[in-house]
Amino acid sequence: MDTISILDRKFAKSIPEKEILNSIDRVASQINADLKGTNPLFIAILNGSFMFAADLMKRIDFPCEISFVKLASYHGTTSTNNVLELIGLNQNINERTIVIVEDIVDSGLTMTRIIDLLKSRGVAKILIATLLFKPDALKFNLNVNYVAMRIPNDFIVGYGLDYNGYGRNLKDIYTVVE
Ligand code: 5GP
Ligand code: MG
Repeated sequence: MDTISILDRKFAKSIPEKEILNSIDRVASQINADLKGTNPLFIAILNGSFMFAADLMKRIDFPCEISFVKLASYHGTTSTNNVLELIGLNQNINERTIVIVEDIVDSGLTMTRIIDLLKSRGVAKILIATLLFKPDALKFNLNVNYVAMRIPNDFIVGYGLDYNGYGRNLKDIYTVVE
């Protein structure tokens, strides 16, 4: 098995790059079919979504904008409750169709907070595109419109996602080994 160490933990390769990119091809085709002509604004949530945002946007074939926003929300291997505010969104988003580009939906708390913040600014429609979704961890009533990959409720790193700051540069996704 392909295993690596990051800080104090061991991780095993669970999703190779090729499989990640195939899943993004599929999601991009859905978005291209659904959103052509709607002039959407993609809002990527930093830091975790930077690789997904880059590979997704290369596959979008209609005129659109992308903006990057930041929220600090996660420490170690468990989700915390202190999700911060959205920073970096300077556009007028009134009446726009928004596609949130996220790395992973776990409990759904982060997405719920972001949706509330965007709704208060008068957007026309909000859609969620996530690289990863852990259906068994979901605690909020959330409609996730575009999911590249569904995964079990285990901690993962790579392809933009970190363990205490490390591992974001890995091109494949790894799952923690207990
Ligand atoms: P939620 O608010 O849905 O519980 O958690 C969302 C955030 O927690 C994600 O944007 C991500 O930053 C972090 N997160 C959730 N699960 C994982 C995971 O398995 N690995 C990593 N690296 N981050 C995760
Ligand atoms: Mg995130």
